Amino acid sequence: MSFTERYDVIVVGAAFAGVSCAQELQRHGVRGLLLDRWEPGSHCNSACLAPLHTIEQYGAADSILETYDRITIHTPVGDAIWQLPVFGCIFDYRRFFQAMLRHTPIEFRQVRVINLEQDTLVTSEGRLWADTYVDASGWRAVLANSVEPTYWESGAGHLGVGVETELDYPTEGLHLYIDPPLLNGYAWAFGCQKATRFGVASFQPCNAIRDHLAQFVRRFGITELGPLRGTRIPFGLRQPVLDKVFVAGDAAGQAIPASAEGIRPALHAGKKLGRLLVGVFHGEYDLAQAKQAYRRYHRIQHKTYRSMYAFQHLVMTLPSRLCLQLLRLLERPTFMSLLWRYYGAVFED
Ligand SMILES: Cc1cc2nc3c(=O)[nH]c(=O)nc-3n(C[C@H](O)[C@H](O)[C@H](O)COP(=O)(O)OP(=O)(O)OC[C@H]3O[C@@H](n4cnc5c(N)ncnc54)[C@H](O)[C@@H]3O)c2cc1C
Repeated sequence: MSFTERYDVIVVGAAFAGVSCAQELQRHGVRGLLLDRWEPGSHCNSACLAPLHTIEQYGAADSILETYDRITIHTPVGDAIWQLPVFGCIFDYRRFFQAMLRHTPIEFRQVRVINLEQDTLVTSEGRLWADTYVDASGWRAVLANSVEPTYWESGAGHLGVGVETELDYPTEGLHLYIDPPLLNGYAWAFGCQKATRFGVASFQPCNAIRDHLAQFVRRFGITELGPLRGTRIPFGLRQPVLDKVFVAGDAAGQAIPASAEGIRPALHAGKKLGRLLVGVFHGEYDLAQAKQAYRRYHRIQHKTYRSMYAFQHLVMTLPSRLCLQLLRLLERPTFMSLLWRYYGAVFED
C-alpha cells in the first residue's frame, strides 16, 4: 500500500497526547491524520491512575473503575496517609479511548512509523506528507529522534522504567511503598474492584525491574506474576519543538518526577498543541508564533519539574525516619493543599 495524500498535520502516537491533539484538530476542521502501530486503546502501559476531574473533562467518565480520596505511603519505619486534595480514579484504558474517539472520530491508520526524512514521513506502509508533524510516540520520540539522533537521551531526569501486573487479589485503596535500598523508585498496590494493580517504577534504567516486581508481590504471598505491561518513563523535559516537529507527552519528557504522573500532562499538552495548530491553520498567527507559544508553555513547567526532582532526590536519599517525617508533613491539609496548588498546576489550565 502507498499513500499519496498530503495532510495539514500528522500526529504519530494514538495514546493520551496524540489522541487529545488530533481531537482538537478534527473538531476545528484541520485535516489531521493519526498514526499508531496499534489500534487506540489496545496496548496499555500504565496503571491508569489520574485525577477524577481529568478523566471527566475528556468525556470518559464511563471508563472509571474506582475512585479514591486518600493514599497510604508505606516506608520501612512507618506509614503516612495522605488525604488527596482532589479525587483520584483508576480507569479502563480501552474504554477511555473508545469514549474519546466516540465524541470525535479521527482519521486513523495503523502503521509503524520509521522516521522522518526531511519532509517525508516514512512508515511501514509507505510515505506520507504533512505541513506539520506532531510526535506523541512516547519515550522513544521517533520523529524528534530522526531530526536529532540523541534526542531520546535528553531531559534532565533521563529515563526511568516501570512495570505492572494485575492480579486477582483484594486490596482496599491506593498504596505506595518506598524502600530505597531495595529500589531507587517505588512500588504500588492499587486496589481496583476485585483485583490489584501491582507495579514498580525505578527512577533510573534498571535491568532487574521484573525481579523487583516479583520480589514485591511475594510480600503479599503471591508467587506468580500475571501478564506484564510497562515501558520506560522519561522524567525530564526535552525540547518541545524541532524544525517541523512539535513534541508532546512522554516524547517530550513530560512525566512528572517523583510521582511519574504522565497521563494528565500528556492529555493537556496534546490539547494545547492541537489548539495552537488550529490557530495556525485558521490564519490567526503563523507557525513561528505557534512554536514560540508552545515553547513558552513548556518552559513555564520547568520550575515545578526541578522542584519535583529535588523532592524525588530527598525521598530517595534521606534516612528512612527523616523521610517518613517529611511524608507525614503532607498529612496536614495545609501542606497538602499548598503542594497541590503548585504541583497540580502543572499542565493544567
Ligand atoms: C508501569 C507504568 C505505570 C504508569 N502509571 C501511571 C499512572 O497510573 N498515572 C499516570 O498519570 N501516569 C502513569 N504512567 C506514565 C504514563 O503512562 C505515561 O506518561 C503516558 O502513557 C504518556 O502518554 P503518551 O501519549 O505521551 O505516550 P504513550 O502512552 O507512551 O503512547 C505512545 C504511543 O505511540 C505509539 N508509537 C510509538 N512508536 C511508534 C511508531 N514507531 N509508530 C507508530 N506508533 C508508535 C505507541 O504504540 C503508543 O500508542 C505509568 C507508566 C508506566 C511505565
